[in-house]
Amino acid sequence: MNNHEAIRQRLLQRRDTLIRRMQEIADEQQHVHGPLSQDFAEQATEREHEEVLDALGEAGRLELSQINRTLERIDSGEYGICADCGESIAEARLEILPNSEYCVSCAERHGH
Ligand SMILES: [Zn+2]
Repeated sequence: MNNHEAIRQRLLQRRDTLIRRMQEIADEQQHVHGPLSQDFAEQATEREHEEVLDALGEAGRLELSQINRTLERIDSGEYGICADCGESIAEARLEILPNSEYCVSCAERHGH
């Protein structure tokens, strides 16, 4: 029986950080989505900034959903068990990739 409390705590912290960051990004996006500057060079910079914010927001959303899924797996006792072959996932792997759902050999076979 594995105790994944340490990983769970780490994920909860990471989730808090992400939620705060997403809020900051959303605030910033609201700001950026205001009327475009008259200056063409300024406009280009603003658009670039907007794209970066969108990408950050997207990456954050993706990671958040992965973390939520992992937390569910921890709560239901499925965590640390390969979703494919049912073998347990090495602790060292979970340490590095806490959201991983597959053991090393299955991950390699699937290419993810
Ligand atoms: Zn496996």
